[in-house]
Amino acid sequence: MSEKKYVYGFKEAKGLGREILGGKGAGLAEMTSIGIPIPQGFTITTEACNLYYDSGKKIPEYVINQIYAAVKVIEQETGKKFNGDKNPLLVSVRSGARASMPGMMDTILNLGLNDRTVEVLAKETGNERFAYDSYRRFIVMYSNIAKGHPRTDMDKMLEQMKEHKGVRLDTELDANDLKALVKQYKDYYKKVFKEDFPSDTYHQLIEAVTAVFRSWDNPRANVYRKMHAIPYSWGTAVNVQSMVFGNKGETSGTGVAFSRSPSTGEKKLFAEYLPNAQGEDVVAGIRTPLHIDYLKEVMPEVYDQFMGIVAKMEHHYRDMQDMEFTVEERKLYFLQTRNGKRTAASALKIACDLVDEKLITPEEAVLRIDPKSLDSLLHPSFDPKLLKSLKPIGEGLPASPGAATGKIAFTAEEAHERHENGEAVILVRAETSPEDIEGMVAAEGILTMRGGMTSHAAVVARGMGKCCVAGCSAALIDEEKRIVKFNGKVYTDKDIISLDGSTGLVYEGDVKKVAPELTGYFGRIMKWADEMRTLKVRTNADTPRDAKQALAFGAQGIGLCRTEHMFFDKDRIFHVREMILADNTADREKALEKLLPYQQSDFYELFMAMKDLNVTIRLLDPPLHEFLPQEDEQIEELAKALDLSVEHIKARIEYLHEFNPMMGHRGCRLDVSYPEIGRMQAKAIIRAALQAQKDLGIKIVPEIMIPLVLDVKEFNFVRNLIVETVNDEIAKSGQEMKYEVGTMIEIPRAALMADEIGKEAHFFSFGTNDLTQMTFGFSRDDAGKFLPDYYGKKIFEQDPFQTIDQNGVGQLVKLAVANGRKANPHLHLGVCGEHGGDPVSVEFFHNVGLDYVSCSPYRVPVARLAAAQAAIKAKKA
Ligand code: PEP
Ligand code: MG
Repeated sequence: MSEKKYVYGFKEAKGLGREILGGKGAGLAEMTSIGIPIPQGFTITTEACNLYYDSGKKIPEYVINQIYAAVKVIEQETGKKFNGDKNPLLVSVRSGARASMPGMMDTILNLGLNDRTVEVLAKETGNERFAYDSYRRFIVMYSNIAKGHPRTDMDKMLEQMKEHKGVRLDTELDANDLKALVKQYKDYYKKVFKEDFPSDTYHQLIEAVTAVFRSWDNPRANVYRKMHAIPYSWGTAVNVQSMVFGNKGETSGTGVAFSRSPSTGEKKLFAEYLPNAQGEDVVAGIRTPLHIDYLKEVMPEVYDQFMGIVAKMEHHYRDMQDMEFTVEERKLYFLQTRNGKRTAASALKIACDLVDEKLITPEEAVLRIDPKSLDSLLHPSFDPKLLKSLKPIGEGLPASPGAATGKIAFTAEEAHERHENGEAVILVRAETSPEDIEGMVAAEGILTMRGGMTSHAAVVARGMGKCCVAGCSAALIDEEKRIVKFNGKVYTDKDIISLDGSTGLVYEGDVKKVAPELTGYFGRIMKWADEMRTLKVRTNADTPRDAKQALAFGAQGIGLCRTEHMFFDKDRIFHVREMILADNTADREKALEKLLPYQQSDFYELFMAMKDLNVTIRLLDPPLHEFLPQEDEQIEELAKALDLSVEHIKARIEYLHEFNPMMGHRGCRLDVSYPEIGRMQAKAIIRAALQAQKDLGIKIVPEIMIPLVLDVKEFNFVRNLIVETVNDEIAKSGQEMKYEVGTMIEIPRAALMADEIGKEAHFFSFGTNDLTQMTFGFSRDDAGKFLPDYYGKKIFEQDPFQTIDQNGVGQLVKLAVANGRKANPHLHLGVCGEHGGDPVSVEFFHNVGLDYVSCSPYRVPVARLAAAQAAIKAKKA
């Protein structure tokens, strides 16, 4: 068998790219090539990860041999020896996928220690405490990660040891304490696994690499990938790197640095340093790190070198860098660098600043912003005037901005469950760990008692655009009793608190919020985006309020007004029910006559709000029974008002019952059965448009949309009754007005018949919600119950109702676009399903050549940016 290369030393890996090396591996290769001091090592490629899974979760022998050979190379480079009697080599084993997935996969440090090498290390460094501290950490990590055993018992042993010695910090334990702890750990290991802790360092290494590959498929990694649309097929690389030690005493330490602020984007180094510690202490939030100024105080020459390298890296990567570094006995090493995760506000400022600094172009700036992240900027913040008069109950670090209010939840599972039941919750934890990811997604905001700006909670919350206050020491949490105390006052899961992630302040109760400001850096990026995109962005809006909100967000029209949403109003539902219950045309017309003024005035408000922008109004769509009363009391009330018997109404409800209403009597089928409904709606639309045109003094071109069409004759039937009504109204008004009649494409048959329908219609609007439902044969209301099984079994990676299924449903869209345009070169094409606001789907719609996407108001900026990115990418390709 030919032996493909799966393992690359950092020096030989330059230029292979993050697809093969993963982000961390590519970063290490690049850093090596520009002369940054890093501990040497090698990368096992993402291809090896896929090979591991393809080989039945085993690393093939020839890859193992390549790993062994690479260890020999590090031995030569460092002059150290793996399992050596002198100068023993210890390594870290870390995951590193193509896209960063902070904390989602596993890492093992200090690998290479055993009862012998720990003694050599102790003797050679003259630091027994350090050697045994490293060893005890390794045993815990190995048991937990390589062997998959929870670390709780070992953590407890550490706590007991501290208690026994009467100390608070683990740094206060001495060499003998740690030695005793190592013995306890090893005895425990033997008891649990029925074997000795492995002393063969090569065995340790292969087990650790296997564990990292395995962690690609752990539940939290799967949740994270789904959330960020990262394909399973990418796999993770593994980086094996010689260890340097930050826990060798006071001239050693470890830290994390962002070259600019990840919260605000301010051009100012943001760095934390923890003396005498290893990296995991910082990330896990176990000890709260110090400001980098401490390093300047104690080791100014190391600080100067550090500052020089930070500047060099930012310039090299042309982006804000998130770096990990370690000082080992006054010698500085960088362990990794990556483009730092940041809040949306910070991303916008950094992108604009980098353009001003001439490091990137406006196009690159637009590409750098994650469209979905904009959402966090569009929501209200606490009323600043009100905040002045409120006294906070606690203060922590402003780890991730935003304003969040909710009832307290003490565990991730609880947060998830209560969120599912419609409750707004704030997840309150001593510190979070990667297992908490689902609870963090569900919570409105996150509050932790411990941890710094780079703790797990802070990093993950910023990545999700979720409000987070970290390290709030005033919050005394008792997880067992399920209470948290602020200043002596007890709060339980019934209490509401508000978090201000921009200041780190915590308030009692529900604090009033105000609308966001959309100027500044946001405005600048969006202006560039608007200049670069060709796809228009409209909104789905049923009320003038939604329409105005969407206009403020930059909508260029209404792509879908669902007329039925106006029917649920208290005054109207009665007439709607009267219409539905009518068993003859005359009675139905009478009821419709009463609905007409309501509809007309609603449409008038919409036209007035949108002025000369296009407004597409759709005729009634849902099955009629959705409007019927369900409870006896309502039925009796209706019977009385209509002067009908309760039995009569019940019989009519029974008659209207459908086994499969989504595929039943709905959409234009209603107009086929009851043309008077379509006539009334057409009349309301055109009268409203005529009035608005007169009042505004500008030309209005209303667009009337027919839902659920599946055949050209059906379309023509409904279109003709609209045209007759509308022409009649226009003639009576004495005004001139152009108007359009088009159709939704939301049934596969309509897509297949697009050539015939396209000849007759002015426009197509893809209703991808129904088109997905009908193509998959999945009910959009019920699929949520079983789709998780499909994600679990890797049949689907994405929810097809959120991100368009390009392979299947996408084919229907492409076909309808091509055939529709061929039949009618003037056909306007848009999409109004939920996919219109999903960035990946927007790119697809740009590429198939639609004229516009239409989405809910809050997703309009998301779609504008995604459309610009699609245009830039298409141009590049
Ligand atoms: C659709 O089906 O995509 C659509 C926009 O219509 P509705 O969601 O109202 O069914
Ligand atoms: Mg639909």
